[in-house]
Amino acid sequence: MTMPAESLPKLSMYIDGQWVAPASGEYLETVDPYTAKPWALVPRGNAQDADRAIQAAHRAFREGPWGRMHPSARGRIISKFGDLIEANADALAEIEVRDNGRLLAEMRHQIRYIPRWYHYYAGLADKIEGAVHPCDKEALSFSRHEPLGVCVGIVPWNAPLFLFSLKAAPALAAGCTLVMKPAEHTSATALKLMELVEEAGFPPGVINVVTGYGPEVGEPLVTHPLTRHVGFTGSTKTGAHLYSLAARDIKRVSLELGGKSPNIVFDDADLDNAVRGVVGGIFGAVGQTCIAGSRLLVHRKVHDQFLEKLAAFTRTARIGDPRHMDTRIGPIANAMQYQKVLGYIDIARDEGAELVLGGKRPDIEECASGFFIEPTIFAGVNNDMRIAREEVFGPVLAAIPFDEPEEAVAIANDSEFGLAAGVWTADMRRALLMSQRIEAGSVWVNTYRDVSYTTPFGGYKKSGIGRENGIEGIREFLQTKAVWLSTAEEIA
Ligand code: NAD
Repeated sequence: MTMPAESLPKLSMYIDGQWVAPASGEYLETVDPYTAKPWALVPRGNAQDADRAIQAAHRAFREGPWGRMHPSARGRIISKFGDLIEANADALAEIEVRDNGRLLAEMRHQIRYIPRWYHYYAGLADKIEGAVHPCDKEALSFSRHEPLGVCVGIVPWNAPLFLFSLKAAPALAAGCTLVMKPAEHTSATALKLMELVEEAGFPPGVINVVTGYGPEVGEPLVTHPLTRHVGFTGSTKTGAHLYSLAARDIKRVSLELGGKSPNIVFDDADLDNAVRGVVGGIFGAVGQTCIAGSRLLVHRKVHDQFLEKLAAFTRTARIGDPRHMDTRIGPIANAMQYQKVLGYIDIARDEGAELVLGGKRPDIEECASGFFIEPTIFAGVNNDMRIAREEVFGPVLAAIPFDEPEEAVAIANDSEFGLAAGVWTADMRRALLMSQRIEAGSVWVNTYRDVSYTTPFGGYKKSGIGRENGIEGIREFLQTKAVWLSTAEEIA
């Protein structure tokens, strides 16, 4: 039975420390991808809401205590926010699962890991040091790193709180104020998180969340004259559009975009480990990660054996209810993405790729209503096919054979993307050479999908601009000011 929309819980946006209704008075349904039914109503924000949030963030930066607060004090608030997330991790994980269908086991793990970003950047807040320069004039010149001001963060639906935190933690530690816009399909956890903001001690306006469609509320945030930085995670197409909008006002931008990452298996690799890494790389999060290892480059000598092992291992994965602790494959996060993935499966078939596994909805009672697609493996792919060039963002693996390491490098780099790559080999010299030659922001050797708050993450080529995580992550939100103090007795 479908519930009448009005009986669903209505969420509010969080602006200037207040829970507010959208200026339009309109709401969007947010859908549980396991049941394919709406479960809450999310405010449909517009330019008026965007302006209100940016003005609040601007006041908090200019007039509020945040901008003038000692970085150690800012760090204590950010750290407490991390503690509160830790204490509320299970509740947040349940909402995340309801909104985007990710596995409960995985989300509990991910949300318990998120506080490390706040703790790490809280510790970094008071370690941002300037420099005194060896000046060739009669002067002392030194530099300081100052916060940019109001930062906008726009994030997608595949890992809502995680991607939110990768932007929020360093921006806040830098001393900036924030307006975040989660994806229209998955706004509930970002709003739930705002319940912790006051208790952590953030002054009003330091963190704001507006919700709704990208063009309606996201674009006005990007083009707002008071916005100083746009941090975007999402598709390359939207990223390019927002980059051009931000360029009009010379705003700083960081972009975390799509990928078509190669996972390269050499014939000397530990094949059982490689199977687990390849499966985790493409079927983890049902392939809905930017770093999905969606191209399997496998040495011809072990090609058939590897694909057999891969298919056998993948067949053992339980598909179904994401809340069941043994489930390994949950639903696709939303109806549009579900159709897109099925479309790519048809394209791969039409292009002549050979279906090894999956390729359809699972014929399982538990999957009857949700947006499920079986883990899918295509062999006989060549790198010119669309299935090897375009980001599917779903559980679809394209296997491409190679003979020589040179050929593997050439295929790996023959992509407009450059986000990540995996190399599976027992030969460390080869691993090192491959890591040097592959054009990607992260290269994993004998592992895949590792990401940490300590280690820079970002894309080469059309996969992005700028870096998140680590010390580099905070620099995105800082600008350098040079100060000159004359030591001359008399100005010439
Ligand atoms: P998307 O670009 O459609 O949407 C991302 C966000 O941008 C959403 O919040 C959306 O509402 C907003 N948006 C859309 N159009 C907008 C506009 N005109 N103005 C302002 N905001 C707008 O991407 P998606 O389909 O939601 O997410 C999947 C994509 O995200 C994939 O390409 C994936 O690779 C990428 N991604 C990248 C990373 C990374 O770190 N590199 C991480 C996760 C996802």
